[in-house]
Amino acid sequence: MNLILLGPPGAGKGTQAKKIAEKYGVPHISTGDMFRETAQSGSELGKKLQSFMSAGKLVTDDIVIEVVKERLAKPDCAKGFLLDGFPRTVPQAEALDGILNGQKRKIDNVLCMKVADEDIINRLSSRRVCLACGESYNTISKPPKTEGKCDVCSGRVIQRADDNRETIAQRLKVYNEQTSPLVDYYSKAGVLKEVDGSKSVDEVFKNLVKVIG
Ligand code: AMP
Repeated sequence: MNLILLGPPGAGKGTQAKKIAEKYGVPHISTGDMFRETAQSGSELGKKLQSFMSAGKLVTDDIVIEVVKERLAKPDCAKGFLLDGFPRTVPQAEALDGILNGQKRKIDNVLCMKVADEDIINRLSSRRVCLACGESYNTISKPPKTEGKCDVCSGRVIQRADDNRETIAQRLKVYNEQTSPLVDYYSKAGVLKEVDGSKSVDEVFKNLVKVIG
């Protein structure tokens, strides 16, 4: 079961990815989470990654592809994987095809979550996340029971540095220009499944499971 979750920032990919990974027993691979972790380490690479992320720009393809290639070679990916936030450009998708071809594997389903731009801006500007476990919150629809504290693990709940209006607009622009061509790419490959991401978390999950089949 080799899956990709595609969709604009704030479509709910992280939330759904956790649920799908649990249901199908495959590792959830989020390039954004991996880059944030490296950025926190303060290394030279971390500083470089942070500068791309803070500006709402994409990390260069060569770095991203190398990181994903290494991750997919780990034993836990042998039975399948769920990619969240990768690929984000056509060259990344082509590189992924190359990596998988070499291992005689292929992508089974690309799950594309569709959400309108206005909804994205509202969702992301009120989004909060737990620094420790990654649980997602929303100041309007799902605030933590105690402000700043995660309901699940008591970790610190923060606003991501790139969830401010200016950076959100830039990330959306990048998505529309560089990532949305992947809808066509995977549609031509016959693996694209589209789901309305504006519904409730449970409804979206039910529909994703249905299209995975
Ligand atoms: P995300 O958590 O998926 O929204 O990713 C946060 C940030 O990490 C993005 O805005 C990019 O700067 C960077 N990033 C994550 N995945 C990729 C990717 N596949 N290609 C390029 N940059 C990425």
